[in-house]
Amino acid sequence: MKLHKIFVEREIAEHHQVAEICDNIDAPVRVVDTLKEAYAYVSKGKDPVSMGKQTLILCQNKGAFIKACPGTREYNCCSYEILHMASFCNMDCAYCILQTYFHPPVLQYFVNQEDMWNELEQVFMRDRISRVGTGEYTDSLIWENYSDLTPKLIQRFSSQTRAILELKTKTVAVDRLKGLDHNRKTILAWSLNTEKVIQLEERYTTTLAARLKAARRCVDWGYPVAFHFDPMVIYEGCESDYNAVIQQLFTQVPPENIVWISLGTFRFIPALKQLIQARFPASGIVYHEFVPGLDGKMRYFKPLRMNIYKKIAEWIRAVAPDVCLYFCMEDDEVWETCLGYAPSEAGGLPEMLDAAAAAHCGLTAPVRSSEGEKVS
Ligand code: SF4
Repeated sequence: MKLHKIFVEREIAEHHQVAEICDNIDAPVRVVDTLKEAYAYVSKGKDPVSMGKQTLILCQNKGAFIKACPGTREYNCCSYEILHMASFCNMDCAYCILQTYFHPPVLQYFVNQEDMWNELEQVFMRDRISRVGTGEYTDSLIWENYSDLTPKLIQRFSSQTRAILELKTKTVAVDRLKGLDHNRKTILAWSLNTEKVIQLEERYTTTLAARLKAARRCVDWGYPVAFHFDPMVIYEGCESDYNAVIQQLFTQVPPENIVWISLGTFRFIPALKQLIQARFPASGIVYHEFVPGLDGKMRYFKPLRMNIYKKIAEWIRAVAPDVCLYFCMEDDEVWETCLGYAPSEAGGLPEMLDAAAAAHCGLTAPVRSSEGEKVS
């Protein structure tokens, strides 16, 4: 989506990044004393979510840049950390939780990155492995035309051995990654789905073939890669479609270059349903039977989830028996039924992912124990 308006918080109006970003965008700029003025602008009109995708706010992050991923204790959580350098997204997926997560949902880019670098230095000093990603509150690579943050992050992560950076995307904006000295400390990750889901539910994203081609380019440049089958959508014929995605994936990407693959089925907070119905009238994803999960989100019945997970896991394992495969927010029963073990039997989910990161990315910090402490 094209940007139509930029708001700049007056306190940071003179920051060098503001001029650099505004120079790259053909849209009127307005400096505001308070962000309430910008929030009021995006909240008016028939579709505030779309308005928020066409409006950029340049401001400060007044909270922490590094945050724990908001998992829930009821399910197996991976102890990921979010590098919150920006919010929201200019692509438009029907199921996107960010439509209801921010109030209002609007593109925000934080220019006070001096604070971010300070927080990252603390991460690099920890005596354990850290897994940090920028792709939870935004898509990691939608900012490539406006900012040089990605190459700077890749460069800083390359010169330490205790943390990895995961860049998650549905774009193919990888041109600038070629030739960077990444030292395998940055993992490029794509969200994958069937062609049908991409066409119906993921507006303004790239095709499956384009994502896999971009992944292949990154592999050729020496980057480790990862893939997220999330959210998997259950529909008639979905099994053969997901099988086709897996076959395409391994045609492009050799399994030994993949750090991890996650699986998660469509889930949503109840408030998202009406929004999807209003904004995506052609979408069918909410017209299914769902049950409330322990975290209050609506999910497919567990037997349905386990049925598709089991098949996908078998198809992946047939080609890539050693790849680290995990579920996002599922309980031990799902793990045991579909993968044959609970995360605790492998030392815990965070420990499994730490070990995969250590093996693929050459980390030297100790892997944490299942109580969250390091083990020597
Ligand atoms: S690409 Fe990701 S962040 Fe962007 S709209 Fe889709 S789900 Fe949301």
